[in-house]
Amino acid sequence: MFEIRFHGRGGQGAVMAAQTLAEAAVIEGWHANAFPYFGAERRGAPVMAFARIDDRKISIKSQVYEPDLLVILDETLLDIEPVARGLKADGKAVVNTGKAPQEIDLGLEVDCVTVDATNIAMEFLKAPIVNTAILGGVAKVCDLVSIDSMREAIGNRFGDKFGETAARANVGAAVNAYEQAIVGRCQGLRPLVARSEWLPEWRDIPLGTTLAAGSEKGVAIGPGGAIQNLTGSWRTRTPHYDRDKCVRCLRCWFSCPDACIKREEDDHVSWELDYCKGCGICAQVCPAKAIDMVKGATR
Ligand code: SF4
Ligand code: SF4
Repeated sequence: MFEIRFHGRGGQGAVMAAQTLAEAAVIEGWHANAFPYFGAERRGAPVMAFARIDDRKISIKSQVYEPDLLVILDETLLDIEPVARGLKADGKAVVNTGKAPQEIDLGLEVDCVTVDATNIAMEFLKAPIVNTAILGGVAKVCDLVSIDSMREAIGNRFGDKFGETAARANVGAAVNAYEQAIVGRCQGLRPLVARSEWLPEWRDIPLGTTLAAGSEKGVAIGPGGAIQNLTGSWRTRTPHYDRDKCVRCLRCWFSCPDACIKREEDDHVSWELDYCKGCGICAQVCPAKAIDMVKGATR
């Protein structure tokens, strides 16, 4: 699996860039997905987006912690957070900058493409929305996606959303960036201070809305809702579990957006239905077809 992490600022189009890259990968015949990370962001605040490309269906839903490719839409982010943390030693980077790769200090010495995406965006789009220009740099460094697929994906996505003229301008920005991009190696001098991630033991993970046995239900920590938000109350379908079919892979436990699937000591699972909204993701990811979504809010 090839994993990509985008770092940008709100308004630069990092999310659209990740989605367009995924679409280009699909055009190439790969499986791909893309999704954003939204904190309490506002225009100009640091944001992240992620994409994954593989030759088989992708079931991982987590953020990308160890990317193969890092895409930095704003060079100034290098000074305010360790954006290259987790980048694989043989990973690659694309940076929006007017500098050459050897002038960039990512904190890791890796193959690096630099492109002045801001300048190109100003020329083609008359606005500092750098997502399509940076995708030209991505096509230069990412062997899985050609510039032709990137052109097609940009044309489709921007054409559908903003019309033919915008699509042409964005394709033009990407192609121009592809032609101007400089390939080289960046420096690895800057210290990459590890950010403390919340990676508890599974027994310590709150069940979204349900804490460990003995604690009061519904305290709002970790994923999921809160006691005031009984997400199970609007459920119209309910997961029914066939314990005999379950191969204990725990994909359902990991994938439930409301974290309302409980992992038992033997790795079988059970449900806290007060907080199951019936989305059906658990049934969809189950490789053993051990979960059926049954009509109604049954228990
Ligand atoms: S249907 Fe499954 S994935 Fe969706 S909320 Fe319920 S338990 Fe979680
Ligand atoms: S995804 Fe299916 S097989 Fe895996 S633990 Fe859940 S119910 Fe069992």
